[in-house]
Amino acid sequence: MPELPEVETVRRGLEPAMKGKTVAHVDVRRPDLRWPFPTRMAERLTGQKVLRLRRRSKYLLIDMESNETLIVHLGMSGRMLIHWPDAPDGHPEPEKHDHVVFDMEGGVRVVFNDPRRFGLMDMCQTAALDRHKLLAHIGPEPLGNGFDDTYLGAALLGRKTAIKTALLDQKLVAGLGNIYVCEALWRARISPFMRACDVPPAKIRDLVPVIREILVEAIEKGGSSLKDYRQTDGDLGYFQHQFAAYGREGKPCRAPDCKGKIVRAAQGGRSTFYCHICQNVLERDG
Ligand SMILES: [Zn+2]
Repeated sequence: MPELPEVETVRRGLEPAMKGKTVAHVDVRRPDLRWPFPTRMAERLTGQKVLRLRRRSKYLLIDMESNETLIVHLGMSGRMLIHWPDAPDGHPEPEKHDHVVFDMEGGVRVVFNDPRRFGLMDMCQTAALDRHKLLAHIGPEPLGNGFDDTYLGAALLGRKTAIKTALLDQKLVAGLGNIYVCEALWRARISPFMRACDVPPAKIRDLVPVIREILVEAIEKGGSSLKDYRQTDGDLGYFQHQFAAYGREGKPCRAPDCKGKIVRAAQGGRSTFYCHICQNVLERDG
């Protein structure tokens, strides 16, 4: 499932295809994704220039000249494909899971493909975005100025849920999902099972830069995976990462001198990956 760095990579990848260009044609190929498409979506986008592409949490925000914004969420399996106009055989025929096709002036085609259809699109007045039901209650961006140890300390105060669960709460901080929370807790050497209110101030001070580092590294890796997209058709949104904890059950911990192995445990209906030595997880916790 795409998290903040993947959505940021999609945003950066779409910029050369869409920014400053007018939407020539939109083909909405089914009535809904997770919920119905906004009314007259194709009509509202056609003939409008894309002013900018932004990201808020895991939402892609495409601001149009009409003062409306297209909100896109990739869900579990959504992806954006770019077909550049110079391909010798022209654009391929849309496939089964190509749900929306945007043809931009100049011939570039952007396709939203989503086999599981947990993604969504909505439109709203750009000026009213902060009040949109999907965006109104999201916490600060982890890479923004509003996220620092003072904020995080105050936000964790009195929270009895596990720190892992707290960091997944989008009202607390935007855009973090299971992968990057596991990675951040491993790198900050905090037990995922520790109650949020018990995380000592020194660890909270460690956690803020660690979260930023991990996201910035992932965005940089995504950026380097974008290099080829100008030459060939690009499939944005998914690329290989090297994780330290996530998905490495039973493998040796990557911390220098640690003899531990990465353990997987069920926590809040998701898998948590951790090193019981580095993260000081007691038997009864994990
Ligand atoms: Zn370790």
